[in-house]
Amino acid sequence: ADHCFDYPVHPDDFDWSVLYPALKETLNPKQVEFLDVGCGYGGLLVTLSPMYPDSYMLGLEIRVKVSDYVNDRIKALRVQHPNQYQNIAVLRTNAMKYLPNFFHKGQLKKMFFLYPDPHFKRAKHKWRIINKWLLSEYAYVLAEHGIVYTITDVKDLNAWMVLHFNEHALFEMLSEEEMKLDPIVEKLYESTEEGQKVTRNHGDKFVAVFRRISIKSKT
Ligand code: SAM
Repeated sequence: ADHCFDYPVHPDDFDWSVLYPALKETLNPKQVEFLDVGCGYGGLLVTLSPMYPDSYMLGLEIRVKVSDYVNDRIKALRVQHPNQYQNIAVLRTNAMKYLPNFFHKGQLKKMFFLYPDPHFKRAKHKWRIINKWLLSEYAYVLAEHGIVYTITDVKDLNAWMVLHFNEHALFEMLSEEEMKLDPIVEKLYESTEEGQKVTRNHGDKFVAVFRRISIKSKT
């Protein structure tokens, strides 16, 4: 139940150095810029951490045991590799409810929705992590030109995400050429535990990537 979640009234009320202990030593503390929504077991964070050592990244995960696992995984990596993996962390929360409590307007450079739960039944569609109401919230926390990465093995869910992002005034879809130029795109397929499971089961993978735009540039 929601009363289990601790969340700040305002992003500035949250003590980020609990998640990123190395931040304590930094005079000019940085903000989280990459957000992995429903990060599962954390494979993407672990992959991106050494690729972007200067960017702070956070995974959001609603399941207690899974977020505890990711926390332990990151702690162990920090011990094994001193001075590395200081820029990644996980937070247990409901990403559908509290994003503006944790992030300032325009703070995020990248958001990831990798293999989100499909919620196949029509009556459950409102629980999808991509829907038209939540897209406005994602647009709010994203910087202009910020990028949203999605991948799923469910064709209908890919179509759903493409439809809703394209309908939204503050997002546009990246072309195949633009996706090829982004070194993160190829990491979407295999970095996460769910992605590896889909590969083992010979499932399909549908990628779609979007850019946060200003209303002006679309009209
Ligand atoms: N992205 C990971 C991967 O690719 O391995 C996990 C994919 S898994 C199918 C979807 C994850 O989203 C689950 O771990 C689930 O607990 C989490 N999740 C679902 N709804 C959520 C919510 N509202 N807030 C945070 N996490 C959520």
